[in-house]
Amino acid sequence: MSFRPGPQHRRIVVLSGAGLSARTGLGTFRGPDGLWSLDPQLEEAMHASALPGSIPALWRVWGDMARVAAAHGPTPGHFAIARMGAQVITQNVDGLHQAAGSEDVAELHGSARRAVCLDPRCPWSAPLVPGEGDRAEDHGAPSACPVCGAPTRPDVVLFDEQLPAAAIDRALALTRAADLFVVVGSSGVVMPAAQLAPRARAAGATTVLVDIDPPREASRGGSFDHVLRGDAHEVLPDWERARRDVAANPFLDPFGGGRPAQM
Ligand SMILES: [Zn+2]
Repeated sequence: MSFRPGPQHRRIVVLSGAGLSARTGLGTFRGPDGLWSLDPQLEEAMHASALPGSIPALWRVWGDMARVAAAHGPTPGHFAIARMGAQVITQNVDGLHQAAGSEDVAELHGSARRAVCLDPRCPWSAPLVPGEGDRAEDHGAPSACPVCGAPTRPDVVLFDEQLPAAAIDRALALTRAADLFVVVGSSGVVMPAAQLAPRARAAGATTVLVDIDPPREASRGGSFDHVLRGDAHEVLPDWERARRDVAANPFLDPFGGGRPAQM
């Protein structure tokens, strides 16, 4: 029988990767067919060592990404995660969890919806109005930092850059406190899922990987109590409906069988 969360799961934490946003057209940045592989110059621009000359490329790529995400909006998976009241740790920078209504989101790779100062010691940041073009102004941000005058950039973590400490701290805290830890849109066997899922499990959480084509190591490695082969945009809304039914009628036990999964 396929796993579904039960009433005992009160603190659900979802770790999401690029696969959750793939159907918006945003899933094409990494991997063998990804944008980086197809355009080595662009890949070069995504390294911290290419700053500050790469700033126009960063605005073009990440501003465009933010624009596509905002135009498409969240997926059924994003909405289900928000409606279940799950807390979120994400590798995605598209802001779609917040757009779906999730309030507690640890963004491990930053956000393409926010501008920051090139100087990491400067506190300035501001939300973007994503557009098209390779200047900050094309995305609703000043090109010079209003605090210190340094150039501005999208708040996306580049290759060779440290992950933001606050987001890591929040992710670890959420992982420790979870009683159900769900990985979606990520293979589950690479960082950070490979690091966080075992931690959640060691702290007592049930761990679940939802993937359309889960890697064999995911079942073997012992990080996951359940490996569900399925589309997150069907599995997560199904979970959310089941939880809503229980909330509406505590005497109903949707986990007792007799009620086919709507998949
Ligand atoms: Zn500044």
